Amino acid sequence: MKTNVKALVIGGGAVGTSIAYHLAAAGWDDVMLLERDELTSGSTWHAAGLLPYFNMSFATTHIHDYSIRFYKTLEEETGLNAGFAVVGNLRMAQTIERMEEYQLYASTAETCGVPYVFLTPDEIKARWPLIETSDLKGALYHNTDGYINPADVTMAMAKGARQRGVMIERRWQADAFHWNGTHWEVTATKMVEKGGNLVPSDEQIVITAEHVVTASGNHAQRTAKMLGIKIPAIPVEHQFIVMDVDPALQEYRKTNPEHPVVRDADAQSYVREERGGWILGVYEKHAPARFEYGVPDSFRADLFELNLERIEEQYLAMIHRIPSCEDSGLKNDFNGPICYTPDGNPLVGPAPGLHNMWLAEGFSFGITAAGGTGYYLAQMMVKGEAEIDMASLDPKRYGPWMTTEWAARKNEEAYEHVYILHHPDEERPACRPLRTTPAFDRQKARGAQFGWVNGWERPNYFGPVDAPESFDHDARSFRRGGWWKHAVEEAKAIRTGVGLIDASAFTKHRISGPGATAFLDWFTTNKLPKVGRINLTYALTGAGTTRTEYTIARTGDDDYYLISAGAWTAYDQDYLYKAIADKEADFGRINAQEVTTQWGVFAIAGPKSRDVLQSIIKDADPATALSNKRFPWLSVRDIELGMCPVRAIRVAYTGELGWELHHPIEMQNYLFDLLEKAGEAHGMKLVGARAQNWLRQEKSYRAFGNELGRDATPMEADLPRFVDLNKDFHGKAEMQAKGIRSTCVTLLIDGPGNADPWGREVLYHGDTRVGRLTSGGYSVHFGKSIGMGYVHPDHAAVGTQLQVKMFDQLWPATIVEDSPYDPQNATIRKDG
Ligand SMILES: Cc1cc2nc3c(=O)[nH]c(=O)nc-3n(C[C@H](O)[C@H](O)[C@H](O)COP(=O)(O)OP(=O)(O)OC[C@H]3O[C@@H](n4cnc5c(N)ncnc54)[C@H](O)[C@@H]3O)c2cc1C
Repeated sequence: MKTNVKALVIGGGAVGTSIAYHLAAAGWDDVMLLERDELTSGSTWHAAGLLPYFNMSFATTHIHDYSIRFYKTLEEETGLNAGFAVVGNLRMAQTIERMEEYQLYASTAETCGVPYVFLTPDEIKARWPLIETSDLKGALYHNTDGYINPADVTMAMAKGARQRGVMIERRWQADAFHWNGTHWEVTATKMVEKGGNLVPSDEQIVITAEHVVTASGNHAQRTAKMLGIKIPAIPVEHQFIVMDVDPALQEYRKTNPEHPVVRDADAQSYVREERGGWILGVYEKHAPARFEYGVPDSFRADLFELNLERIEEQYLAMIHRIPSCEDSGLKNDFNGPICYTPDGNPLVGPAPGLHNMWLAEGFSFGITAAGGTGYYLAQMMVKGEAEIDMASLDPKRYGPWMTTEWAARKNEEAYEHVYILHHPDEERPACRPLRTTPAFDRQKARGAQFGWVNGWERPNYFGPVDAPESFDHDARSFRRGGWWKHAVEEAKAIRTGVGLIDASAFTKHRISGPGATAFLDWFTTNKLPKVGRINLTYALTGAGTTRTEYTIARTGDDDYYLISAGAWTAYDQDYLYKAIADKEADFGRINAQEVTTQWGVFAIAGPKSRDVLQSIIKDADPATALSNKRFPWLSVRDIELGMCPVRAIRVAYTGELGWELHHPIEMQNYLFDLLEKAGEAHGMKLVGARAQNWLRQEKSYRAFGNELGRDATPMEADLPRFVDLNKDFHGKAEMQAKGIRSTCVTLLIDGPGNADPWGREVLYHGDTRVGRLTSGGYSVHFGKSIGMGYVHPDHAAVGTQLQVKMFDQLWPATIVEDSPYDPQNATIRKDG
């Protein structure tokens, strides 16, 4: 057995096998896969094999789409039939809101070219008479997906991998990982059968690998422990039952092709045909997390006991939906561990803090996702970056604050939320509040309805102070929800008066030391600011696309304060620290400190913001302390507000006169009270993230995770003013080589009047699909919907008339100049 390879994949389930296949397909000819037991002996063997397109994420839609197309090619390549039954997938809606969810999904799916049709209840009944349709509003139908045999597709991928030179070694367990500075040394133990259990033998080898990928399924916690990292991949119980024959189905099949998969989302279940009967799979309430601390040796290709009581409601709903199955007995049952993560997306990408260690863990739709994950992860490993932005799947989207207890409870919630209505303004309740700023209670008392950002509670908007517990839940909609009017008032307050936003979740790093300046100059695209000034800048990936957006405040010759998006603390820290470790030898000593939780941030903005601050600033000359002369736009000053030392930065993400007030977190309540009292005289309003999101679109300010990500360069984001082409920086040549594949634009939209786009809808020019929205909302200034997005450069000129698809209809959208509100920045620069 070879002991020196380029890439070692741990885990021979659907996911690991696909990764090994795709690494070889991408050109790596020295790939080995280790499986502790037999291929498919993890969750893969007992999956139901459904391949649903449906999900609400852009990246995952691409992944699922690739899988479905790829699996169809495997038989021709390997001669093995993967058992793909392309029977179609019928997703039914019992309510108008459910149809609206499908319409939003479909608009996103269309950006990826996924085919679908909507059907009325009569059309459903005419084609599939066994379905009870009297209580349906319609359905979304995909005719190109269906189900597959999970073991067969894995074996076909394994054969394809072997044909491409991959070595697959079974009964070897990876037991220890050591990075020797250039390579991983992986200790593997030969596993043997003993009394039906799989146990380690005395035989061990060390395999040296430049790259390691872990795809260890339900063993993710053990893997994480060996690597010394924390990841929230913990399985939950998942059940499906196989029913005896249904004579009506058998009769129907005499003259018809196989029945499509029937998803009754409002009844939390799916049903598919199986040998003349039906399989019922459920996403029920109260399914417990399992294996929080590892999988016992005795658990191999095993199952848990069926819990029929837990799925009774869904079983009765199935009988309602397909009445002919009422008398079919129970033939078989499966209750297996299905790995989950708190948001239901897998963890795919570089492991935190480790070089050349890649994770592919936490798959709950792993059969559907395996093909695409292998394809895109191989692109990341072989080419440096995937063609789609994989950030929403990155393993570092949770931070070190995460615990086993939190992950287990959130995974249970994610499981039972599979079929809830996925409102874009959804907030999930489990394990909250957890990370709160000191002002949390004060904000709550003033009506704050909080959103979840990387564990933090951040006000989304301020509703009525006496709102019932269910207020936010009831306020959600695919159209303008009950919160909309509150956000409108908040946005207006900032445009016409003054508002205060809690931005404490921002990620903050201090970078200093003799190598700091040269390092940051290389690491980021813009000219570094002078001392006392700030800039907006980008760190790029090795492929020249946007890895992170920073505001950099230069507080000394070699002293910098970096601010980046609050949702991405561990993600940003990891990239920064790895780059520093790689470059310190070239640039000299660099001190890096992640100080996110040490500093709270209030953003005060609006034409009256200077008046509020002037009344509380302690300065020899308060009247001029905040003037353009002493405190110009895009500068940083250490000031004192009452008794609170504040690092103030004159910048406002809302595009209005304003300052960010970075303050010691322990003094936050003092500062909050001070600002609130001073603000009273000027009608200051507390403002949440939703209004801020609308306001920044009126200024065409790109948001990280929306317009800015690893699938576009800053030039494509149309931000050349923040890229200094006269200097060398990381990713520059690659960025230039990419050219402009699509362009970021701002659009004003004449929508339905009671709804705004959410920022994931498809854009058309006539009959041609030309792009997609990445942000959406309402503009209080223009009194209509607004959005930002990417379109083909041929269609990006100001004034171009496009159309955006919302609720299955096309609505006029006009490309406007960048920063349609106050393009000269007159209000931001206002002196006083
Ligand atoms: C009842 C049920 C129904 C399901 N239905 C569907 C469905 O219809 N569609 C769908 O897409 N998904 C479905 N799933 C989910 C699906 O089964 C999983 O998402 C998928 O199998 C995960 O594949 P994997 O390769 O990540 O993990 P696994 O299949 O669990 O593979 C991981 C492998 O890693 C090996 N391993 C672990 N640690 C080590 C180590 N240290 N050294 C060597 N080897 C190691 C294990 O032995 C195992 O073989 C279902 C799951 C359940 C429980």
